[in-house]
Amino acid sequence: MSRLVDRFSRSLSYLRLSVTDRCDMRCLYCMPEAGEPHEDRPEVLTFEEIHRLVRILCRLGITQVRITGGEPLVRRDLPILIGMLSKIDAEIEGRTDLSLTTNASRLAPLAWELKAAGLNRINISLDSLDPDKFHRITRGGRLSEVLAGIDRALQVGLTPVKLNTVVLRGINDDELSDLVEFAVSKGVTHRFLEVMPLGSVGIENRDRFVSAAEIRQIIERRYSLVPLPFQNGSTAQEFQMAGTTAQIGIVSPVSERFCSTCNRLRLSARGRLQLCLAHEDGVDLKGPLRQGWSDAELSDLILETAYRKPAGNHFAEDPEPVYQIAMSGIGG
Ligand code: SAM
Ligand code: SF4
Repeated sequence: MSRLVDRFSRSLSYLRLSVTDRCDMRCLYCMPEAGEPHEDRPEVLTFEEIHRLVRILCRLGITQVRITGGEPLVRRDLPILIGMLSKIDAEIEGRTDLSLTTNASRLAPLAWELKAAGLNRINISLDSLDPDKFHRITRGGRLSEVLAGIDRALQVGLTPVKLNTVVLRGINDDELSDLVEFAVSKGVTHRFLEVMPLGSVGIENRDRFVSAAEIRQIIERRYSLVPLPFQNGSTAQEFQMAGTTAQIGIVSPVSERFCSTCNRLRLSARGRLQLCLAHEDGVDLKGPLRQGWSDAELSDLILETAYRKPAGNHFAEDPEPVYQIAMSGIGG
């Protein structure tokens, strides 16, 4: 069977799977305070539809599936979907890594069920260690719930746990070393992300941008960082913290993009296969699925579409970047 490959000979092996556009937070850099327009329920893929599309995609070469959103844990009965997806390996005689990115507000009570259903590992967003600031950045999030979620994820073995921080000038750029210290104390990897100018909040976040080089300089005021070799398909420059076993990563989609080795596809909650974060191009799979297309027909449509994957983003070059695609809608 043909494999997923694009016109630049990049093999596509990583799927970001959004299971909902909805979220219980409204992070400054991701959603407007009033939220994004929500999908109607019939517009959202059912678990059976997601399972079928992911199985087809895995047959075509996807080996890593990361469940995301919106906030994936607001999708009711998510452990049932994880149970279904974790059986795909046996169905196709393959090997798929199943992970989740979450804001962790609902993680503590669900962590064990997620692990038991077959989830391998987890990334948790953590933008501040100060409860008031955390509340302000997420417009309503409670830090205590997230910290409980991190502890529970470690207890039940959803490892490696990775923490993500979007760095915002004048808001949390004074906390980077404290966040590193927190990650070291928990024995987890921490990743710092440049903010991307996406969605209806993109313009207002441009002035909050801190580059990867500056993030590194800030952290190096307290810690020595030794760069590690770049891993193909990774979006981060990884560093060893000198004198410890801990590592951190800096993700630079704007200043030093890793598009030439990008191996990602995205499937939205509404069943759209999206080729790149910063381009509208993609294809609706839900329509054909509901019209009764066969696996072979869907596979051909996916292969043809994936082949068109754009070369990369233009965040750095565009003087007035307006990417109307919201992260919450495309499986950020
Ligand atoms: N709700 C979950 C969460 O926050 O982890 C999963 C979805 S969220 C869209 C996935 C990741 O995208 C989070 O780590 C979040 O911080 C990041 N993100 C959202 N908007 C972003 C932006 N404009 N620039 C950079 N990262 C962003
Ligand atoms: Fe919700 Fe995640 Fe976006 Fe924050 S980053 S608003 S938690 S989807």
